[in-house]
Amino acid sequence: MIKKLLIANRGEIALRILRACKDLGIKTVAVHSEVDRDLMHVRLADESVCIGPADSRESYLLPSSIISAAEITNADAIHPGFGFLSENADFAEQVTQSDFIFVGPKSETIKLMGDKILAKKAMNEVGITGIPGSKGEVSKDISENKRIAKEVGYPVLVKAAHGGGGRGMRTVDKEEDLEEAIKLTKNEAKLAFGNDTVFIEKFLQRPRHIEFQVLCDNFGHAICLGERDCSMQRKHQKVIEEAPAPEINQETRERMSKLVTDACKKINYIGAGTFEFLYQDGEFYFIEMNTRIQVEHPVTEMITGIDIVRQQLLIASGEKVGYSQEQIEIRGHAIECRINAENSETFIPCPGTIDQFHAPGGPGVRMDTHIYNGYKVPPNYDSMIGKLISYGNNRDAAIRRMSNALNEIVIDGIETNINLQKKLILDDVFQKGGFSINYLENKFKKDNGSK
Ligand code: ADP
Repeated sequence: MIKKLLIANRGEIALRILRACKDLGIKTVAVHSEVDRDLMHVRLADESVCIGPADSRESYLLPSSIISAAEITNADAIHPGFGFLSENADFAEQVTQSDFIFVGPKSETIKLMGDKILAKKAMNEVGITGIPGSKGEVSKDISENKRIAKEVGYPVLVKAAHGGGGRGMRTVDKEEDLEEAIKLTKNEAKLAFGNDTVFIEKFLQRPRHIEFQVLCDNFGHAICLGERDCSMQRKHQKVIEEAPAPEINQETRERMSKLVTDACKKINYIGAGTFEFLYQDGEFYFIEMNTRIQVEHPVTEMITGIDIVRQQLLIASGEKVGYSQEQIEIRGHAIECRINAENSETFIPCPGTIDQFHAPGGPGVRMDTHIYNGYKVPPNYDSMIGKLISYGNNRDAAIRRMSNALNEIVIDGIETNINLQKKLILDDVFQKGGFSINYLENKFKKDNGSK
């Protein structure tokens, strides 16, 4: 069993990992930048180490600093959380080379899934369909690229193989624009991701984002904890997530669960992971696999009763996944609203000091956050300051509880997106469920146009 774990992250997820460690009797080491001394998990951890200045490139993104902190504190494992180094295969490699346990899959798996072309190929080989497009990298011969784009049908997407965070993609509506789009995306990809490999994919016009959560151990056992619908997005960033996904029936869930768990066994996947799909006209198209814990994991925890972070720690300690697929029972409905320190209309981040914080409560309400009265949100990191999760026996009950909880929550001193979330929860289309990933952007355009 892991005895002492270093948490290589900050904010809400660092606190979430710390709580799971405390439950299991694992000692904790918090690492933090100079502006993060007052984070809640730093206060609660058994030990803490300052690893550098506010700029994450010199702190949270520096493998050598994190590994040194693990060495001086005698930690035996490192949990990367999400973002930062969580999907950096070199970091995972260095962690294991330095004799620490990396809480996540093997570095080869992270590398494979980090390359969208290789990941798509690997999935294709195990029977999981990707979005139609070029077999691999675009051809040097433009007429060949034109032939492929015409075959899959316009609009198409030119996509960077190493892209991430919704960047490195360009839609092309007609053949005349294809050559230029490939050139531009290649240049951007080279600058942003240090690799200019791009490929062509059909652009789906009204897909939903549906993803499947898996847990796999070192003994070849893999289970699927069902799906989440994360279609409420702005600039490819998720705003609201829910589980289960509206309109997905048990038969489809079982078919997809089998497909993704078989894939895990074939690629020797270890730990928690998520298969992301775009879903349109009854078909699932694989887009990518996230080889880490995800922001939206709590909705799955609420409907399955399984603590995913605890499972990550047990699996990394060499234990078996303690559930069979048959034991996974999906009960009720859960919704998560991301709470961001940003203006509800302009989306401009609003860091600053929280004068007053009051967390909502009651049955079926969970708030995962690191904020407290007097906490200062620094301007240096992602603007997400918490996640509000509601649970009910059915979707309507979960919506009602979320709406009440959003009315109860108080965060004063900084601007937040709570007002936007209040509107979205009461939105007719959201209430009906099953809308496409373009819904929110289109709604903003329409609302602004009609002002
Ligand atoms: P990233 O690694 O940047 O998250 P993804 O491949 O997961 O890249 O795509 C991010 C988002 O872009 C998706 O959630 C979806 O909203 C949109 N997207 C990606 N591929 C397509 C496609 N072929 N058609 C339409 N939208 C797409």
